[in-house]
Amino acid sequence: MRIPHYMASGEFTRFVRALPKTETHLHLEGSTPIELLKELEPAKFAEAPPFWSPEYRYRDFDQFMKLYDEYCLTFYTTAQRYHDAAKIVLATCREQGCRYVETSIHLPGLAYVKDSGPEVLAAIREAAPAGMEVRIFAGMCHNDYAQHGALIESALGWDDLAGVDLHGPEYWPMESWTAGVWERARAAGKATKAHAGEFMPASYVSWVLDNLGVRRVEHGVRSVEDPDLVQRLVRDDITLDVCPISNVKLAVQGVPEMKAHPIRRLFDAGVRVTLNSDDTFFFGNRLEEEYIALNQELGFTRWELARMARNGFEIALVDEAVRARLLAEWDGFVAAQGLKP
Ligand SMILES: [Zn+2]
Repeated sequence: MRIPHYMASGEFTRFVRALPKTETHLHLEGSTPIELLKELEPAKFAEAPPFWSPEYRYRDFDQFMKLYDEYCLTFYTTAQRYHDAAKIVLATCREQGCRYVETSIHLPGLAYVKDSGPEVLAAIREAAPAGMEVRIFAGMCHNDYAQHGALIESALGWDDLAGVDLHGPEYWPMESWTAGVWERARAAGKATKAHAGEFMPASYVSWVLDNLGVRRVEHGVRSVEDPDLVQRLVRDDITLDVCPISNVKLAVQGVPEMKAHPIRRLFDAGVRVTLNSDDTFFFGNRLEEEYIALNQELGFTRWELARMARNGFEIALVDEAVRARLLAEWDGFVAAQGLKP
């Protein structure tokens, strides 16, 4: 029932699948497996959702948010449901060659779950396939502190939480609590990210770098509008976790079609970019299609795709012994394939 966004020869698809890779921008709720939703509401999910069509374009992010509430939010009522979703989502990552995954949950959603936050995180971790490293981020919107401040502060103390991420509409006013929470998260040993440069311009990417102190920007593609910022991303070793099919289907400014996607210019400029799928339920995409798209529409060679996959291992939140093992596996694959710059 799913129509592929991009298809390649069997040989190229096997190459993409076998390439040791990471997924570091994946919203668990936005990637809820349809089979689980269908069990609860068979009639609603009898056919593929319209937004799975490769031609589908969201009107705007508000429409996306409305559909998110309608389709996925109410599913998550227990730790078991997070586990069931994560089990399928992470197995799908594994079959596409992922060795390391960072996934986020919408933290305020836990207010409606009957189990505790630590129980939810444990349930997600237990869903990881053997040999896969999984890190969980807590996402929150610009205006979530007033209602969920206590939950946000307590989450900074959860052992299984890898970090925090700023979610939701970028164009909502930024509130002053964010900088303090991001600083306290780092003091507590957590990694910090922020969504920026998807709907707001390059100046907003600079804002999250300056004020939230992040070194990981989710999307960040509109950075390309400012050459000084692009240079800064390279100089300061900032990583952009990019999701091209998501950008096309959400009609991000400057991305009317895949051929125009700035990932080519960012990669060529030396920015560390990773390739990811964002919300597989809402885009109907698979991670390997992102790789195929870059090859077919933007001329990325096998070496360049492999190099991009390596970026994910370079920034993975793992100890150095694990990183060395992951990079050695990547080295072995590239040598066996005879890939060179
Ligand atoms: Zn995202």
